[in-house]
Amino acid sequence: MVFNLLNFQLNFLNSEATQLLNDSPTMKTIAEGNTKVILEAENPTQIVMRFKDTASAYHGIKRATIEGKGALANRISARLFGVLAEAGVENHFVRLLSDNEQLCLKTEVLPLRVIVRNVAAGSIVRRFGIEEGTEFRVPVYEMNYKSAQLDDPFLNEHTAVAFGFVSYDEMALISQTAHRANEVLIKFFDSCGIRLIDFKLEFGRTPDGRLILADEISPDTCRLWDRMSGQRLDKDRFRRDMGDIIEAYKEVCERVKG
Ligand code: 5GP
Repeated sequence: MVFNLLNFQLNFLNSEATQLLNDSPTMKTIAEGNTKVILEAENPTQIVMRFKDTASAYHGIKRATIEGKGALANRISARLFGVLAEAGVENHFVRLLSDNEQLCLKTEVLPLRVIVRNVAAGSIVRRFGIEEGTEFRVPVYEMNYKSAQLDDPFLNEHTAVAFGFVSYDEMALISQTAHRANEVLIKFFDSCGIRLIDFKLEFGRTPDGRLILADEISPDTCRLWDRMSGQRLDKDRFRRDMGDIIEAYKEVCERVKG
């Protein structure tokens, strides 16, 4: 348990240049990362998530300010968490508060990322030398430990249990939730003319011990390709200097609005 907490705190301090800040006179800042600020909410069981206009890649080595990105990611994430909730996938989203802010349940976010892949792109292409765009027979599930300093090392369910992050039962729940979220999101994006190539999920523990989906789901955390043209509608436009980032995020926002 001590190991778990220590690692959690270390990871929390190291991840994506997170700093603990307490300087806002109105809403107290709990933490700030590259793309979001977490603020205290009036209700102590909730937090306010404020999306910034910052784009960040490669552990923050590549950064830029892209006006309007925060508002688009906020709206898209709200819509996607809404779609998941309607399908019975429990998550932390409560409601939109403003252009850049949403109210969420307060959770202790696990120090790991779950990656779900339907089509080969990004790091799996580099690691395995497979062709980008190759469809997998079944979804690929991967997990990494959130530590920019350690270059986000991979871990498996046994490592996650051995390190005290989760129990085996919780690991099973995480797998089921990731699988279900993938099914729901593939279908939803398909109805919007978008292929869900891959995405990242984060899980948070509620005060009463439940694990639910947390953080964000947006073009910052997914690869989304236009079904007809194959056009990239996600953060790869920033990573790969493809331009038209805001146009792509706007396109996704329009299509998921319903
Ligand atoms: P890859 O491993 O190919 O870089 O990423 C796989 C998927 O997970 C992509 O959709 C990517 O956007 C998302 N992802 C993986 N790690 C991170 C991360 O640290 N931050 C964000 N925002 N997304 C990530």
